[in-house]
Amino acid sequence: MPVNQVTYHSIIKELPASVTLVAVSKTKPKEDIQELYDLGQRHFGENYVQELIDKQAQLSTDIHWHFIGHLQSNKVKYIAPFVYLIHGVDSFSLLKEINKQAGKNNRIIDCLLQVHIAQEDTKFGFSLEEILELPSPGELPNVNIVGLMGMASFTSDLEQVKKEFATLKQTFNELNNKVFSNSLTTLSMGMSGDYALAIEEGSTMVRIGSLLFGERQYS
Ligand SMILES: *Cc1c(COP(=O)(O)O)cnc(C)c1O
Repeated sequence: MPVNQVTYHSIIKELPASVTLVAVSKTKPKEDIQELYDLGQRHFGENYVQELIDKQAQLSTDIHWHFIGHLQSNKVKYIAPFVYLIHGVDSFSLLKEINKQAGKNNRIIDCLLQVHIAQEDTKFGFSLEEILELPSPGELPNVNIVGLMGMASFTSDLEQVKKEFATLKQTFNELNNKVFSNSLTTLSMGMSGDYALAIEEGSTMVRIGSLLFGERQYS
């Protein structure tokens, strides 16, 4: 399946300046990434550590690589040297490990806390209460929490999805005011099927895969 260049251009054209497009390239060959890169795309998202490090080694060093999948603590070390933003931080122990590996690489790694907003209980993430219990930023000097990430329920009920995005935005504002001294900049929400709705509800970063690269085939 070829890269959908027409869709790419129309998404880019309609995207508000405040919203960053992360092109989700998981399972897709590096040639597809290169094709979007040649059109000017620099932010790419991957879900699997091995796949990400293979692609990172073969493609341009000025790509901003986003890790958007469920990250296991024992694999943080492989992506710590180069990862641009880790979206799915869903536990304190993972945050601690990112801090440790970032330190070893003399880096400060930007992270998003994943918040549980969907109805399904299979989706990972913190509750608001759990985030409030996290230690103060000074204790983890090599991680920089820059925002939140969430995934809406897998449903065609757009009212439900809208409600979940609105809840995440509200959580974002609340945390930003009460805990983070308004230092949070990034609200990662919205995928191929719901990104327009997410932007209406205040998203600053959308993660779009299949609309750009075609449906994924898992083998
Ligand atoms: C795969 C994935 C996406 C992209 O999904 P599409 O529906 O193909 O746009 C976005 N976010 C996360 C966390 C993903 O795993």
